[in-house]
Amino acid sequence: MTLSRRSYEGIGASPGVAIGEVVVFDRQNVTVRRRHVAADAVEAEIERLETAMAEARREVEVVLEGLSDAAGADHRLLLQTQLLMLGDEMISSAATDAIRGGRINAEWALRQSVDAICARLRSADDALFRERADDVHNVGEHLLRALTGQRARTLPALDHPTILVASDLTPAEAAHLSASRVLALVTDSGSASSHTAILARALQIPAVVGVADITREIGPGDTVIVDAMRGEVVVHPDPEEVEEARARGERFEAFRERLRDVEARARETADGVRIALLANIDLEMDLPHVKHEGADGIGLYRTEFLYLDRSAPPSEDEQVLIYGRVARRMAPRPVVFRTFDLGADKMPNAMRRGPNPALGLRALRVAFERPELLVTQLRALLRAAASGQVRVMFPMVASVADLRRAKVMLETARGDLEAQGATYGPVMIGSMLEVPSAVLMADRLAPECDFFSVGTNDLTQYALAVDRGDPRVAHLASSLDPAVLRLLQRAHAVAEAHGKPISVCGDLAADPVATAVLVGLGYRSLSMPTAAIPLVAEALRRVPVPEAEEVAREALEQDGAADVERLVAARFGDRLGELWREQGIELPR
Ligand code: PEP
Ligand code: MG
Repeated sequence: MTLSRRSYEGIGASPGVAIGEVVVFDRQNVTVRRRHVAADAVEAEIERLETAMAEARREVEVVLEGLSDAAGADHRLLLQTQLLMLGDEMISSAATDAIRGGRINAEWALRQSVDAICARLRSADDALFRERADDVHNVGEHLLRALTGQRARTLPALDHPTILVASDLTPAEAAHLSASRVLALVTDSGSASSHTAILARALQIPAVVGVADITREIGPGDTVIVDAMRGEVVVHPDPEEVEEARARGERFEAFRERLRDVEARARETADGVRIALLANIDLEMDLPHVKHEGADGIGLYRTEFLYLDRSAPPSEDEQVLIYGRVARRMAPRPVVFRTFDLGADKMPNAMRRGPNPALGLRALRVAFERPELLVTQLRALLRAAASGQVRVMFPMVASVADLRRAKVMLETARGDLEAQGATYGPVMIGSMLEVPSAVLMADRLAPECDFFSVGTNDLTQYALAVDRGDPRVAHLASSLDPAVLRLLQRAHAVAEAHGKPISVCGDLAADPVATAVLVGLGYRSLSMPTAAIPLVAEALRRVPVPEAEEVAREALEQDGAADVERLVAARFGDRLGELWREQGIELPR
């Protein structure tokens, strides 16, 4: 029997083509039904609960025993904490009472008891208790899985390269992806600038995101083609189609290699103007890629990834070790450490989601609520600055007051180190320009900092009022929109007038359609996922500055993003068309 072919459309978020078998990772909560149990079955139900608790503990113990030394103390501590909670009296006695009192099944009793404990914790006055609620919830889900035999919530261990299909990945889960095991990634939600997409690009794993309901439509073991150039997923493809896709994938890989080989990796425009190309990294493990692509430095280190997937924030000493290693390995090239941008789409376990996270407690606002978190990070960064060129950049600066307040915290950190007699080094201070108000006030921010970096992902989200994580509106979020370009123009003009270096570190910097426009607006420093460096270098080499300036001027006068794309296509299609096509980019005519 031949299985019927189906295809689905999504957003190509990391280029490449892959063909393989599917593994589905569904993070939905366990479904549980209420069942009444007869009086003489109550004890058996309690025994089921106890067996499940013992089984869940054994599972964690096995993982703990098998943990290599390299796994790190935090991973171990996390598992030990989980183990303790799996044996927690509070959970087991509440559930046992519920089974006895309500004559209900163990699953229902457990869900009710865990929900009640979580609700109590969430309403506690002490933040420490509130923060435990998610941990208790997770432990409850773990126990329910043991009771019901439903799928576990951890990323599946992939013993051969497969295509991972998931509802979505948390940044912490996405951080565990490995290019050698995951051929491609497909998710129900997300957009091209969501963190899953950003990480997939960093790891060079082809990804199609925002394919609504794909986890329901696809079964484990199905063969699929993931064509991230076309933003397409084909289930049960025809043999000829597989051959064509394979050829497309090979052509793309060959193209990527060819770009890498281009002699001396000159980072110059066609008329010899030097442009710095820096790397964006999320984790220390991205560093080998940075070296491979020969970046001029790190223009954005998203340090918040260090805070995810753990129950307590990283200690000062742990941070000094990591930041110091990165700074040393990059020296004398600079590393821009962006202080943690937690909240919104990067929620640590312990944080509560507000009603509108992108506009709520996020980044510096979290730091102002929990000053010790940022001051600890700043002490670590100052200490790491003794090892290399450390630049400290504050995210989500929305006002002059924000930047001043963050700088006061930097001074507090310096004062602490001074008092302790600790060794530390000098740092440069940067402000991200990713909130429209910051761009509008850039002339007032300039005297307060040493450099700027434009985060076009958030700037676009806030300027156009488009949620960057919502696939239903993702098509509206183009950073090439003239509204965003006008903000970019203003930001550059102000920085230049104040003699402050400025770069772009949002994903627009990696878009070969935008390269000429950014250069034309005056940008001479671009920071991007490492995989994009050879591509942007090649785009640069094909465009002279005066032409780029002309196109940028015209772009600012267009009505919309599609008009800007049409303009760029008309002006540079002859020289850049090949690069765009290889990336699967089709421009409007
Ligand atoms: C941005 O907003 O453009 C940016 C670089 O930061 P992030 O994508 O981490 O929000
Ligand atoms: Mg941002």
